[in-house]
Amino acid sequence: MGITAGRAVDWMNRFASEVSEHRQELVRLDTAIGDGDHGTNMERGMRKALDRLGQAQPEDPGAVLKSVAMTLVSSVGGAAGPLYGTLFLQMGSSLAGHQEVELPELSAAWRKGLEGVQARGKAQPGDKTMVDALTPAVQALEEASELEPGLQAAARAAHDGMLATTPLVARKGRASYLGERSKDHQDPGATSTYYLFKSAAETLAG
Ligand code: ADP
Ligand code: MG
Repeated sequence: MGITAGRAVDWMNRFASEVSEHRQELVRLDTAIGDGDHGTNMERGMRKALDRLGQAQPEDPGAVLKSVAMTLVSSVGGAAGPLYGTLFLQMGSSLAGHQEVELPELSAAWRKGLEGVQARGKAQPGDKTMVDALTPAVQALEEASELEPGLQAAARAAHDGMLATTPLVARKGRASYLGERSKDHQDPGATSTYYLFKSAAETLAG
């Protein structure tokens, strides 16, 4: 069985819980190289997104992601709200019309999402942003032949991409104001992106 709307909702629920559980970690990382709001922003945005999902009851996975996107864009300030909003909006549009999503549609949707994030934020891999976790994870999913191992490989790749941001000098976002002093800190957005893939691996394969 492919990914249904119900499973997409489970995924968003799990992501919201991960963000909540790791709020302090995300705040600490963003305090070191930003303004310290990443954990609280994401937690608040995802809580609102879940409220709205509960009322709207979208019928397919694409509609679930679009609903979350709308909430994040309208209620989360800073860089990450609009960037996550774009990610989910592009993924949702890519999945439109599919009641049940299989691996090829899912990897195509992730690719569209990543392209949207890059079109909006202009970050390349190596710029020390969420793109550094997204890029290898989407690649891993594209190389997979089955959903469950693909999602697990994507989560591992996102984790490695997240860790690999530590030695980098930030070239985009607030952290770039620090120049060389942004080195030796893990990027908060790459960290929340890892939690997004971890949540996907735990929920979407059933
Ligand atoms: P803000 O920096 O406005 O306070 P957040 O703290 O919520 O927003 O999010 C910071 C994260 O956003 C960074 O860790 C980084 O991963 C991501 N980010 C910032 N700018 C960009 C960009 N131009 N492209 C991709 N990701 C970005
Ligand atoms: Mg911040």
